[in-house]
Amino acid sequence: MQNMNLPPLRLPRAILFDMDGTLTEPLLDFPRIKAEMGIGNRPILESLAMMTPADRQAAEAILHRHEDQAAQSCRLNEGCESLLRWLDEHHIPQAIITRNSRSCARIILDRHRLAIEILITREDGPFKPDPHPLLLACKQLNVNPAEAWMVGDGVYDVQAAHHAEIPSIWLSHGKPRPFADEPAHTIAQLPNLLLLLQALRDKGDNCA
Ligand SMILES: [Mg+2]
Repeated sequence: MQNMNLPPLRLPRAILFDMDGTLTEPLLDFPRIKAEMGIGNRPILESLAMMTPADRQAAEAILHRHEDQAAQSCRLNEGCESLLRWLDEHHIPQAIITRNSRSCARIILDRHRLAIEILITREDGPFKPDPHPLLLACKQLNVNPAEAWMVGDGVYDVQAAHHAEIPSIWLSHGKPRPFADEPAHTIAQLPNLLLLLQALRDKGDNCA
């Protein structure tokens, strides 16, 4: 579903993907992790940043345990492999931008043999919704932010894309949008992204 308030999308020169809930099925049980960490309903990484070193160490151990356990068993979302194959065939490079740890992301990439070369994790500096990791990925991919897409299922994905002036594609999983930030385009499921790309390709609307 195209956001009619924004210019029409063009075939991107690169795609930046969120990982958890976007390429993979939802990985982490956030309410359970937050309860164990004792942070109420506040965001995890922002809460960690405000803790004393001792509290932070204990809370990070909880987070890492959940992340690494989830990474060992998580499955890819339906349509992920055919989507990435199509992008490779059409020379549209990809990056992963995640608030997860590098260790967790590496386990998932290796288990599913995903050959996405650019992996930006929370260890790489300010994380989503900050635009930093998206702009870093664009730089590494040598593309203009305006010519890339950010694809994700969360509010931070859409907000980070806005801050970086990158068109955002929000994956809704068929649910109403629970935040105000407007994505450039909404898709219900990952296979819809492939259909959208193929339609733009067929239109010859190619800025690549
Ligand atoms: Mg996500």
